[in-house]
Amino acid sequence: MEDISSRNIDELKNYAASLGEKPFRAKQIYKWLHQSLSESFEEMTDIPKALRTRLSNQAYITAPEKVEVQISKEDGTRKYLFRLPDDSLVETVLMRYKYGLSVCISSQVGCRMGCAFCASGMNGLARGLTPGEMLGQIEAIQRDIFNETAGAVPKPDSEEYLRNRISHVVVMGTGEPLDNYDNLLSFIRLLTDENGLHLSQRNLTVSTCGIVPKINELAEKKLEITLALSLHAPTQEKRKKLMPIANRYDIHEAVDAMKSYQEKTGRRVTFEYSLIKGVNDTDEDAEELSELLWRGAHMNLIPVNPVKERSFAAPTRAAAMDFQRKLEKFGINATIRREMGQDIDGACGQLRRRHLER
Ligand code: SAH
Repeated sequence: MEDISSRNIDELKNYAASLGEKPFRAKQIYKWLHQSLSESFEEMTDIPKALRTRLSNQAYITAPEKVEVQISKEDGTRKYLFRLPDDSLVETVLMRYKYGLSVCISSQVGCRMGCAFCASGMNGLARGLTPGEMLGQIEAIQRDIFNETAGAVPKPDSEEYLRNRISHVVVMGTGEPLDNYDNLLSFIRLLTDENGLHLSQRNLTVSTCGIVPKINELAEKKLEITLALSLHAPTQEKRKKLMPIANRYDIHEAVDAMKSYQEKTGRRVTFEYSLIKGVNDTDEDAEELSELLWRGAHMNLIPVNPVKERSFAAPTRAAAMDFQRKLEKFGINATIRREMGQDIDGACGQLRRRHLER
């Protein structure tokens, strides 16, 4: 079966040609999939019936199936649990910000990076997601939102479309995106295509635990996306205890790769730092961070989301703010990530784990 949701327009043209169809059919199908957010070939009414039947027999659309949706009463954050065509489960989160709707997608089923504080990697990696499966998470949620607000998917560029569109995407859900590099790049092309959701590259953030050769490869692509490094510790010794990837790539190598990414692309990189009480939130840690990073570096502090299988705790709000002030004093721009969806299964991978346990 043909994975039609993962194909870009050029690839779809080749596919159409292989079926003896004209190139314009490719564009029609592409727009049905990624602008009208169709979940079946039947909906594609300007495609001849015979071709639709042929497509249904030979190709499939990865429309993730909603298994469960948790909605936060506090801030409207939603956590979706989706089932993929092979019955794998993935989590995706929708957040509502002042600047618009933002979706946090998974890039793999499970993860093999094994970070100590993370629930996503506890069962290891099953597989990487296809480009269509990464995009499908966003499209499924977008369809949901349009159905709720407009009763149907509105015309692109219509006022209703623009008002309710997902404007930001972060690849910070389950999985390591740079461990699924080729599919990630294909996904970025689909997501930003003008005949699809047409997201601005600038509104896309990719977060990595620090696979250095891939950071360097990505830098050469000169994309306008934001790259974030999950740092979580100020020294190699401490980082190794939290993140096994540090055994492969030294903390300084990872930070240098980020610096050169910033220089090559002209895009400011960010560092993520999960604050864990008594582990990486001391005065000494702040001072060591200032030695590791550079003045003006940007750091997102995230009070760790306790995972029931682990004994990590978050510092108090006051302690987190104190740590932030220390970093600021050293010239590091630190912000504390607003915690959203605290009343739903917050930490990455928890909703999925709960389902797998059943
Ligand atoms: N593999 C990528 C992206 C997925 S993880 C990466 O490592 O960046 C997204 C972010 O959530 C990472 O910074 C990760 O370290 C962090 N994270 C994972 N579990 C967490 C938890 N329990 N509390 C706070 N942050 C967590």
